[in-house]
Amino acid sequence: MTDQNKPEKVQKTQKINGVRGMNDLLPADAAHWAHLDHVLRDLTRAYGYEFLRTPIVEATAVFQRGIGEVTDIVEKEMYSFEDRLNGEQLTLRPEGTAAVVRSVIENNLLYEGPKRLWYTGPMFRHERPQRGRYRQFHQFGIEALGFAGPDIDAEIILMGQRLWDELGLKGVRLEINSLGQANERAEHRAALIKYFEKHQSQLDEDSRRRLLTNPLRILDSKNPEMQTLIDGAPQLLDFLGEESLKHFNAVQALLKANNIPCKINPRLVRGLDYYNLTVFEWVTEELGAQGTIAGGGRYDPLIERMGGKAAPACGWAMGMERVLELMKVSGSLPEAQAQCDIFVLHQGGETLTAAMIIAERLRSAGIDTILFCPPDGQSASFKSQMKKADASGAAFAVIIGPDELAKNEAQLKDLRGTGEQKSVPLDEVLGAAIDALVGASE
Ligand code: ATP
Ligand code: MG
Repeated sequence: MTDQNKPEKVQKTQKINGVRGMNDLLPADAAHWAHLDHVLRDLTRAYGYEFLRTPIVEATAVFQRGIGEVTDIVEKEMYSFEDRLNGEQLTLRPEGTAAVVRSVIENNLLYEGPKRLWYTGPMFRHERPQRGRYRQFHQFGIEALGFAGPDIDAEIILMGQRLWDELGLKGVRLEINSLGQANERAEHRAALIKYFEKHQSQLDEDSRRRLLTNPLRILDSKNPEMQTLIDGAPQLLDFLGEESLKHFNAVQALLKANNIPCKINPRLVRGLDYYNLTVFEWVTEELGAQGTIAGGGRYDPLIERMGGKAAPACGWAMGMERVLELMKVSGSLPEAQAQCDIFVLHQGGETLTAAMIIAERLRSAGIDTILFCPPDGQSASFKSQMKKADASGAAFAVIIGPDELAKNEAQLKDLRGTGEQKSVPLDEVLGAAIDALVGASE
């Protein structure tokens, strides 16, 4: 074997890091995510939405067709690869809607009529990692499929507003726009091209390319030097026909009737190709550059475009990391909870055996219990064990030392209130623990 062919030696002691932009969920944050999950479950139940889980990997065509070729996601953000084992072209999902629609068509879910669905899970986009922008991030989303009227547009927006209220988010603004229908966008597009061609020299490189492929997306540009030019561009709203305006006005009227303030943003076009009529985003000034916490809209053409029987649909998706960050800024994250109700201390040997049996008995009764486990596999002083018990947030400690065991007893110690400690026969520890916990919670 030549040197070149030798496999590179990896030093055993060298640490291996995670992938850039893909984060671990650490125990300290787990309760926050669990709280968010819980609120989302209640929200979807409150509105009659059913859960759908699709795989993390899909055929690349799902997103190429579903999201559109000339979009940031498909052009430059997708993790696409060939399955070496069978040559299939696959992609880690960058968003949920295209995959949900693929599944709805494949499983004939609209057969019995419209469906209200929700999903959650990791999404993958190869972007430059920064605050609020990761390569693996998590979305929650809802999709209402088979409904044509403005009522459902309003319903999904009400759901979002209720969610922000439940989560205690401050400073979230709703921006809304209408993208009309394809023919209206075509007229607007012609006017846009004419306008931007007149000002070719002021376009940046991205926009020059978009002028030929997807000029509407130029309006979405974040380049500050382009803003004056964009402000003067023809507005899609002025090209909307009667039906589109009627739909847009009806959505706004329903929002108003429900006291949901919204701002019309004529430049809101959303990054994905599949939208028509209503589009919207929830934005905040509190998170710096990554200020959009959720966005969505109506996508009536998508189901047919993905090979299904034509049916209207709308939905939105939210970035869970950004929402949790905004909860932090708003001071509305739930307080840390105790790890357990009861912490059990012992001195190894027979006292460990007795302690383990008691701990199991407590758990069987639904009491969360941590049994001290000495790091060296031997035993540890009660003093150091008591420190752990305190740190766990437990309300009570059960202590079994050799003296206690000789008398067939344990000590039950109040860790939070009075600090009181009393002897309890081993057989009666469960009853005493229940009484103590009930007493402490009153
Ligand atoms: P942005 O304009 O911030 O790139 P987007 O329009 O690409 O967002 P959507 O495809 O609408 O985002 O996704 C819905 C939500 O998912 C966003 O509003 C945001 O909260 C979140 N999101 C999108 N991309 C990321 C990312 N790379 N990291 C974290 N959250 C993200
Ligand atoms: Mg993006």
